[in-house]
Amino acid sequence: MKACLLRAPARIETDPLEFTEVPAPKPGKGELLVRVSACGVCRTDLHVIEGELPPRKSPVIPGHQVVGIVEKQGENASRFAIGARIGIAWLHRTDGVCEYCRSGAENLCDNPTFTGYSVDGGYAEFLVAPEDFVYAIPEAIAEEQAAPLLCAGIIGFRSLRLSGIKPGGRLGFYGFGAAAHVAIQVARHWNVEVYASTRDARHQKLALDLGAAWAGGTLQEPPKKLDAAIVFAPAGEIVPAALQALKKGGMLVLSGIHMSPIPSFRYDLLYQERMIRSVANNTRQDGEDFLRIAAEIPVRTRVQIFPLAEANRALNALKNDAIPGAAVLRVRD
Ligand SMILES: [Zn+2]
Ligand SMILES: [Zn+2]
Repeated sequence: MKACLLRAPARIETDPLEFTEVPAPKPGKGELLVRVSACGVCRTDLHVIEGELPPRKSPVIPGHQVVGIVEKQGENASRFAIGARIGIAWLHRTDGVCEYCRSGAENLCDNPTFTGYSVDGGYAEFLVAPEDFVYAIPEAIAEEQAAPLLCAGIIGFRSLRLSGIKPGGRLGFYGFGAAAHVAIQVARHWNVEVYASTRDARHQKLALDLGAAWAGGTLQEPPKKLDAAIVFAPAGEIVPAALQALKKGGMLVLSGIHMSPIPSFRYDLLYQERMIRSVANNTRQDGEDFLRIAAEIPVRTRVQIFPLAEANRALNALKNDAIPGAAVLRVRD
């Protein structure tokens, strides 16, 4: 099969993904072989490729926002029929037995595997995944529009939940890429006012188009104090600025898997019971709940399509803030 292979981490400017021929995987017990239709491009892919996340498998095929068709069932796999349209996300598998899995926090599992990081992902014509960790994708959503829902969408949704924002509340977004452009649609559906801080003028415009009450520069203070804020951008220097924008008792959610160091800041930015928390992965319940709400609203993703062979170009564009919305690789014509 054709795939984009990362042999060793390197800066994306050096085009480290090799578009090449590799053996197609075979489904094991309880697994599905999936023919990939489209795969979303996520900032986490960039962190894997550039080595900001320590390598777990090498070489590896990145990609964890996969929409595809069940091609073959492994032994004992019967949850989805052959030909069913399904989605595969970041959480590939958990151990199911650790204290976190047993207490409903499988996103914090002690022994997880991740799609496109510790196992091969969707920058390829085929991949395998455990059927228990796969999502049904409603036929109403086109493949390419659905792909960014599987990480950007689900993680943005978990971030919204952890922010504790209530209808009528004011919520800040720092960075306005793929996750934020989906999360704002959910927030507006909940009648939440969104204040978007982002360095790129095109992203500010997209935020306003999608119903933001205000859009400004990354470190610019929003015109009103916020009940909560979500930092989507991987830049630690945003944290003090975002705390400055919060009301007393406000919640700051850091949604990324990687962030540059957070500078030290005055205690009074945090005092008055402001809180900071990170988001790590998601539970399958988050994924199911989000996909149901996304279909109800319905969420519309803005996507820029690239052929699979041009994954390096898509990732370079993502790094340069040149994608309004989400980048998606079209794998099958
Ligand atoms: Zn576990
Ligand atoms: Zn992701």
